[in-house]
Amino acid sequence: MPTTTRLFNFSAGPAVLPVPVLEQAQRDLVALPGVGMSVMEISHRSKVFEDLLAGAIAGLRELAGIPSNYRILFLQGGASLQFSMVPMNLLKAGTAADYVDTGTWAVKAIEEARRVGTVNVTGSTKADKYNRIPTQSELQLTPGASFVHITSNNTIEGTEWKAVPDVGTVPLVADASSDILSGPIDVSKFGLIYAGAQKNLGPSGVTLVIVREDLLERSDKNLPTMLSYKVQADNNSLYNTPNTFGVYIFGLVMQWLKSLGGLSAIARQNQRKAALLYSEIDRTGFYRGTAQTESRSLMNITFRLPSEELEKTFDRQASAAGFDGLKGHRSVGGLRASIYNAFPEEGVAGLVDFMREFERTHG
Ligand code: PMP
Repeated sequence: MPTTTRLFNFSAGPAVLPVPVLEQAQRDLVALPGVGMSVMEISHRSKVFEDLLAGAIAGLRELAGIPSNYRILFLQGGASLQFSMVPMNLLKAGTAADYVDTGTWAVKAIEEARRVGTVNVTGSTKADKYNRIPTQSELQLTPGASFVHITSNNTIEGTEWKAVPDVGTVPLVADASSDILSGPIDVSKFGLIYAGAQKNLGPSGVTLVIVREDLLERSDKNLPTMLSYKVQADNNSLYNTPNTFGVYIFGLVMQWLKSLGGLSAIARQNQRKAALLYSEIDRTGFYRGTAQTESRSLMNITFRLPSEELEKTFDRQASAAGFDGLKGHRSVGGLRASIYNAFPEEGVAGLVDFMREFERTHG
């Protein structure tokens, strides 16, 4: 196979990026048109970068219909640093933060928040091996909580919230790392949304934070400077040197989404891709989806085969056939097809054909 042939990349992240974005980045890598330097070589204080940053922000604002009282930040440290920054900035003294425990990443968020203050786990599906999202009536919200934290899509377990939970007037915080911009989102229902970029937004090393302006007032002056949302917002993400290349690619991804018809269009595509794969999983008893039907993720599709031995064989043969990255997370095993926005529909169709043939020869 020529080294430039692209495989179908089912990796959970860093994940597949849109080919037109990669091609434009390649064209402009050595010298941005009219600039004569690569985006990685220009000052983050230059007019050129200022425009790229403003374009990335405007692109996202338009796509997701982000209200004007929300700020958009590009930070570093991944979603994992947000596990700390969220409680450090938003948890008010003498109050608790509510966390919904829906999987491995939610647990990590809870562990970090506990280092900062009081955490109430207000709902958990651990007893069900995280195979579903709790219902609204299962959430026992704390009156006067500083915020409620959810993980909108559970990358490892393959579940997602189908509706935004009702948390009254308490700010809702979402780790949307693995489903951000996979469909329309009503940002006004959230106080803060964060996401590592490396699934639906761009390369790793840049973290998107969308935060309601009034919440910036909660950032204590004594916080470490780099960890303060207020400082980051006051400096338009330029307190220090941001991931300039990451912000540039993010901007291109926004343009690509717009060219496809925006978030409703990508949502329809995502529905189609996931439906195709889930219907193959459900067709016979050979494959078994691990998430309960009503909680199934459209982004990370987790399934098992009759034995671990067969799962290993499946992964090996799928890789050889050009379907890469299907092994489930090491903590849960099984198989996982991550089919983010940029994952092509023909790759899903190809996997379905492969699955049929595998079942015919191994079932
Ligand atoms: N939250 C979720 C839902 C994730 O999927 C991941 C990464 N897979 C993280 C947090 C951690 O992200 P990062 O590696 O950017 O810190």
